[in-house]
Amino acid sequence: MISLGLEGTAHTFGCGIVNEKGEILSNEKSSYIAPLGKGIIPTDAAEHHSKVKEEILRRSLEKADITMRDIDVIAYSAGPGLAPCLLVTANFAEKISTDYNKPLVPVHHGVGHIEIGRLTTGAKDPIIVYLSGGHTAIIGYTEGYYKIFGETENITLGNVVDMLAREIGLSSPGGPYIEKLALKGNFVELPYTVKGCDLSFSGTLTAAINKLKRGIPKEDICYSVQETCFSMVVEVTERALAHTGKNEVLLVGGVAANKRLQNMFDVMVGERGGKLYVVPHEYSGDQGAMISWVGLLSYKSGWSSNLKDKINPRWRIDEIKINWF
Ligand code: AMP
Ligand code: MG
Repeated sequence: MISLGLEGTAHTFGCGIVNEKGEILSNEKSSYIAPLGKGIIPTDAAEHHSKVKEEILRRSLEKADITMRDIDVIAYSAGPGLAPCLLVTANFAEKISTDYNKPLVPVHHGVGHIEIGRLTTGAKDPIIVYLSGGHTAIIGYTEGYYKIFGETENITLGNVVDMLAREIGLSSPGGPYIEKLALKGNFVELPYTVKGCDLSFSGTLTAAINKLKRGIPKEDICYSVQETCFSMVVEVTERALAHTGKNEVLLVGGVAANKRLQNMFDVMVGERGGKLYVVPHEYSGDQGAMISWVGLLSYKSGWSSNLKDKINPRWRIDEIKINWF
């Protein structure tokens, strides 16, 4: 069985092809770049996806060395995400599913990040730390669902680094720039807000921006934002590990690429005698292989979505029955 998956929830349009053994045959993508100093403009990102979709599909099939006839199931990212982007992706998936008479499976973007992480790292039953542009959540599998143990109460960690980068005058996505600047910084105190297992980053970001405006070097701000926010995420994850008795941690999503974050997790998980898994860089950001893989798992396990519409910009991960775990 071969699955073709289309990702297009936000900045990236991707097409990945995966077989039943979990071999990734291709994973082509193209990303919309937000204008300097600005965030994603949803309609512009959707226009980007619309322009590149045929070419990305063609390249993905070519790389996998197959044709549409060899595909058994078509999956697409149905949410959560930016509505204009989701619609371009869903309509395109629907069109090729009709044209080639293939079953169509809507996939939750977050489940995609988790399952590609489990597939590519070999983590079995981890606490998942899902840190992307749209999500900051500490998740674990319990009784048929990916349960959220803790999440952000306001902005995501991805938002923090991107908004800070914008304030400094760097383009989005800002994470890699912040990480680089942080290497030369010293610590300044910033608000640290953990409530139970939930996190609040907005006060930290506001304080950081105020300090920046008052002339504290940007390197110090970047370093301190990283140290403060990452410590908050590590603290909550440790609590989730203690609560569930799980001993694996899996970092997924774009922010997982951050080496300082990985290092802090390595120390915490190591001290507990557990094991840390980090999704490989090529699969940490948005791409189609993760959608393709979940599409295949869903299809094989007879899963059907609870979606009323073809997209759901606010689809929650804990609404989805995980039949294949
Ligand atoms: P995703 O939505 O999963 O594609 O992740 C995108 C987010 O990851 C953006 O907010 C990026 O700024 C962030 N990101 C990417 N690389 C890094 C990094 N090295 N450190 C921190 N954040 C990063
Ligand atoms: Mg993502």
